[in-house]
Amino acid sequence: MHHFNYEDGRLHCEGVDLNEIADQVGTPVYVYSTATLRRHARVIAAAFDGMECLIAYSVKANGNLAVLKTLASEGCGADVVSGGELRRALAAGIPAERIVFSGVGKTRDEMALGLETGIHQFNVESGAELIELSEVAMSMGVVAPIALRVNPDVAAGGHPNISTGKSGDKFGVPWADAPELYHQMKALPGVEAVGVDVHIGSQIGDLEPMRAAFEKTVGLVKFLREAGHDLKRIDLGGGLGIPYQDSDSPAPPSDYAQMIREVTEGLGLQVILEPGRMIAGNAGVMVSEVLYHKPAPDRTFLIIDAGMNDLMRPALYQAHHDILPLAEPGAETPRTTYDIVGPICESTDKFAAQRQMPEVAAGSRIAFMSSGAYGAVLSSQYNARPLVAEVLVDGDQFALVRRRPSFDEMIQLEQMPDWLT
Ligand SMILES: *Cc1c(COP(=O)(O)O)cnc(C)c1O
Repeated sequence: MHHFNYEDGRLHCEGVDLNEIADQVGTPVYVYSTATLRRHARVIAAAFDGMECLIAYSVKANGNLAVLKTLASEGCGADVVSGGELRRALAAGIPAERIVFSGVGKTRDEMALGLETGIHQFNVESGAELIELSEVAMSMGVVAPIALRVNPDVAAGGHPNISTGKSGDKFGVPWADAPELYHQMKALPGVEAVGVDVHIGSQIGDLEPMRAAFEKTVGLVKFLREAGHDLKRIDLGGGLGIPYQDSDSPAPPSDYAQMIREVTEGLGLQVILEPGRMIAGNAGVMVSEVLYHKPAPDRTFLIIDAGMNDLMRPALYQAHHDILPLAEPGAETPRTTYDIVGPICESTDKFAAQRQMPEVAAGSRIAFMSSGAYGAVLSSQYNARPLVAEVLVDGDQFALVRRRPSFDEMIQLEQMPDWLT
């Protein structure tokens, strides 16, 4: 469900014509729908109604401060994977006690920041990190609440680049090591085990691998409780997939919630969830302008003003985005086939190969649907292109929520060494 629809022949986000945004802000530009963000947050909250549950939105999916503030106002907490994301979440008004800190490579400074601000939980991913965190906490005279992220060795659909729960993945501690690490924690005065954490990947449409991983994790919680660990929480990560095209049919949030209810029933655990894509994915589009048509012997390239530096998902994971013209095609609009590419000097700068779609003229605009998650957050200034702009729509109003930097701003962090001046 989202709020991007044609009205009077023009693609709108809620009540705003996307062409109007592009006219004012330029292209490429990401546009997010407040109504869609709120709706997704509410659908998830409703699905888990009655359970003791913390919805910790995964900031890495879309960390724009205005997006975070919108979700904070819906009562979302945050899952962060760096000190920077922690500071973003706090800056947007998400209370520290609703923030969990994940990630395999936390530095001592990042640990100290989490401890200082009093976050809900650290998801720890190795024995070495455990010892380091205990030392940092002791030096500050506090105790860090810990869930160990375990690797359940379960394969979960999706693209191999976004699978995290197999034994060869860098994430989580090996399953067999978990009991010993919980045992070691008892001897570390700076940490206290409060739960177990698992996250097996992203864009998973099928509930079965998730159920398998969650059941395994619940089994571990029971085992650890019997071994004398007072565990109060289970963190089940994020990862539920979204529809990127009509042929996708990921499990609905209600089925996902029902499965989690069944798996965690009667345990008296706080359930922590870290949804990212499922909240932000369909809440955003990227708008780009068609620059040129370039015929080749066997195809036509549609060259657009957005590049892989603006939307990296197709280059990074061969991801599919539906592409819609902002001007609604009519019955008389011819259909054609394009390879849709950007201006970047890389062969991977290709958004779609042999895409069948209505003809679009140079100077007209197109929207990459479902770009709200892992879109702008992955953008860069490669090829000395300014960072892509971001706009938030709410009803019939819109605002620039990240402006494009000027050329001077783009180079302001650089300086000449003495010997060149
Ligand atoms: C990326 C990530 C998430 C969010 O995944 P989605 O598929 O966007 O829901 C949640 N938890 C962790 C630890 C992650 O790395």
